[in-house]
Amino acid sequence: MTTDSRAPLPALRTRAFIGGAFVDAVTGDEMTSLNPATGEPLADVASCDGHDVDRAVATARQAFEDGRWSGRTPEERKHALLAFADVIEQHAEELAVLDAVDAGKPITDCRTIDVPETLRCLRWYAEAADKVFGTVAPTGPSHLGLVVREPVGVVGAVLPWNFPALMFAWKVAPALAAGNSVVVKPSELTPLSAIRMAEWAAEAGLPDGALNVVPGLGETAGQAIGRHPDVDAVSFTGSTEVGRLFLRYSSESNLKKVALELGGKNAQLVLSDPPDLDLVASDVLLAGYWNMGENCSAGSRLLVHESVKDALLERVLAHLPEWLVGDPLDPATRVGPMVEEEHLHRVLGYIQRGSQEGARAIAGGARVLPDSGGYFVAPTVLDGVSPDMVVAREEIFGPVIAVMTFEDDEDALRLVNGTSYGLTASLWTRSLDRAVRLSRGIRAGTVSVNCFSEGDITTPFGGYKQSGFGGRDNGMEAFEQYTELKTTWVALH
Ligand code: NAP
Ligand code: MG
Repeated sequence: MTTDSRAPLPALRTRAFIGGAFVDAVTGDEMTSLNPATGEPLADVASCDGHDVDRAVATARQAFEDGRWSGRTPEERKHALLAFADVIEQHAEELAVLDAVDAGKPITDCRTIDVPETLRCLRWYAEAADKVFGTVAPTGPSHLGLVVREPVGVVGAVLPWNFPALMFAWKVAPALAAGNSVVVKPSELTPLSAIRMAEWAAEAGLPDGALNVVPGLGETAGQAIGRHPDVDAVSFTGSTEVGRLFLRYSSESNLKKVALELGGKNAQLVLSDPPDLDLVASDVLLAGYWNMGENCSAGSRLLVHESVKDALLERVLAHLPEWLVGDPLDPATRVGPMVEEEHLHRVLGYIQRGSQEGARAIAGGARVLPDSGGYFVAPTVLDGVSPDMVVAREEIFGPVIAVMTFEDDEDALRLVNGTSYGLTASLWTRSLDRAVRLSRGIRAGTVSVNCFSEGDITTPFGGYKQSGFGGRDNGMEAFEQYTELKTTWVALH
């Protein structure tokens, strides 16, 4: 088993995948993907722009129009997607390593979370493909009203870097299951797993053109997808700032459907009657540091009742050493590097800003392992944060937990909702009444009680307020992103 970032890697696929074949970017341009644990280049990857997106959309459109995928029966699509998952599973370790080296994700997380969830997602939507029913409208005897879901056509999926394989699956699985053709743009920072997965899809028998991958920069390839007149829907996961651009692209082009999964500044609310504090502390750290805090649902605000704060922080600090920082390819590592140097400095800048505004780092607070060449930040707890501070309001996207206190449940709810985001929230209490009452008041897409969770593939995931727009990932609800409703109204004479 590989345990060293400098160990040899599997042969990397680095070209765009269009119409079932690897191709260079039309311009011949390339971009370099780095290993954030070493700062060293991993691969030069085709850097696609509008020309390549045009090619990919044309081949996707052709595949959609001639029915080689869209025209298969739902059951046939189910079997093809199950075969796709099987091929991925045969290469599970390679996929885990690709995301670990490209994104700096701990290999143990990739092996036990990202890859299994990617498979589960593909299989879940494969199985769902032939279980989506339409409805018959309650007409009188002289009419028949049929309401069915039809694939939108060509779907663009623009992905972030924090869960490269899993976000690919979240978009591609329901889009393909519904019968669409898909053009994926992975993040320029983490293109390797998406390219390889497209190849595995072809190996599993997905027809050419049904699934295409155009690695490239956001401003070129991403924008070209957003503005393309022949893309029918875009599903985007990333920052709120870039998400807004996709609404503009759509309004200035063909009014394509847009679904946005965006950032979060999620609260972890520990009430005055929490369950076992060791359990809460473990979950609080998981919420803050899983995936290095580079997670839209990260519990970056710890809101704790003043009566339990000291006891909880003591348990938090006691469990903190479990969060080992190190080489992502070492199975013991739980915290890898920040995804790139610029992001490292952004996260350190937030920590510094917190101190300037009066917060105090009671753990971490600095860069670590600089000799590795990687972009590591020590898991950080900022105490004494107040709601007006920048670290309490902005998404840091690093391993930083900001601690605030409150006096009563009303005060707590005000704090939880006192943000422009509304993706997730967790709350801990022994009282079912308080849990239900508070969860009803929380303006977020997912509320977890006595745990940190995003739900699972069966439950819709997405945000209120500026955490999302236009749809949900996961659950049967994801099909709404990738389908149009068709009413057929028949007069019976
Ligand atoms: P990002 O900078 O917004 O990038 C997301 C995608 O958009 C990337 O593929 C990026 O390409 C592309 N892009 C960038 N600029 C663009 C432009 N001008 N036009 C079109 N596309 C453009 O986000 P990120 O840094 O990758 O991911 C972190 C963010 O994602 C965080 O805010 C996090 O909260 C959010 N997130 C949300 C969820 C959710 O489900 N709600 C899940 C995970 C992450 P390049 O990478 O090549 O620039
Ligand atoms: Mg990389």
